[in-house]
Amino acid sequence: MPEPPVERARAADRINQRLNELYERQLLLEEGSVARYYAPGREYYGPELAGEERDRFAIALAAPEGDVYTAGDWDVGFALQSISKVFVYALALHDHGRDHVLEHVGVEPSGDAFNSIVFDERNRRPFNPMVNAGALVTTDLVHGKDPEEKLERILGALRAYAGNPSIDVDWDVFEHELETADRNRATAYLMRSNGMLSGDVEAILALYLQQCSVTVTCRDLAVMAATLANGCVNPVTADRVLPREYVRDVLSVMHTCGMYDAAGQWAFDVGVPAKSGVSGGILAAIPGKMGMAVFSPGLDHHGNSVRGVRVCEEVSGRLGLHVFATEGEDAMLADRTPARPPRVQSAPA
Ligand code: GLN
Repeated sequence: MPEPPVERARAADRINQRLNELYERQLLLEEGSVARYYAPGREYYGPELAGEERDRFAIALAAPEGDVYTAGDWDVGFALQSISKVFVYALALHDHGRDHVLEHVGVEPSGDAFNSIVFDERNRRPFNPMVNAGALVTTDLVHGKDPEEKLERILGALRAYAGNPSIDVDWDVFEHELETADRNRATAYLMRSNGMLSGDVEAILALYLQQCSVTVTCRDLAVMAATLANGCVNPVTADRVLPREYVRDVLSVMHTCGMYDAAGQWAFDVGVPAKSGVSGGILAAIPGKMGMAVFSPGLDHHGNSVRGVRVCEEVSGRLGLHVFATEGEDAMLADRTPARPPRVQSAPA
């Protein structure tokens, strides 16, 4: 039954207030907590060289009903970077189906950094689509008669997840990414020599760096997360953006491989499917419950946003969002459905 408008407005006020308190609490970053920052063309640099990016911070939550709550720099644009890998993997699944994609890229966490040049030699494929090697392969799998058409299809997908038709590539970011792409280039050529990739390496590399250079706001990212959380139906536009059968695959890979080489710790502490990028964005999809996005460029040793990790830890802990939380911990479930009493179970015959 839909909530009456007064109740809904009251609930919205309450969420906004909590969100602002959370924002204020996490704004404070103690000395030494940020390991590095990343900027296209400049690559990584130490916190002592950071300027206004030190204070950049945004949080956005999107509910399955389509309401979006924001705090801080929610309208500042930043490059999706590795977060784009989630949506391009989804597109590859859509274009080829699960079995074909699985032949070309695995679903095994590598435990290595995202730019590692190590492959699953036994299966002759990159470990998973969230490391650069795997992402280069999924980018190559996207259908299209030429690179322009492939890029348009990737942009079309990203826009549909965000419900924002103006999302686009930042071509300056792309040019800078291209200047410092030797490691990705080497990875792609090595994969081609091993038969893991075919075709024009420079074109695949450019397309991959274009998808990384797509600019979004934290608000866009929250709606993208909510779309994933909502079985890939955008809660704002009501459009289905991916066949239901592939949603589970995308969320599973995010859950096990989305947070670089901290994915295991993340699954343990936060326990929700998520993906981070070097710009300082984190997208977290809590199935059936909400999409959450944080943007703050200060990164930890794994390359994850320091404030982003802390915000997600706090929200997951407070609301009991961890996938293995007990029903008693789940604050959102308590709001909606009364917990079903356990059935008295007799021992199996
Ligand atoms: N463009 C970056 C790269 O491929 C993206 C990396 C990231 O966000 N981890 O190296």
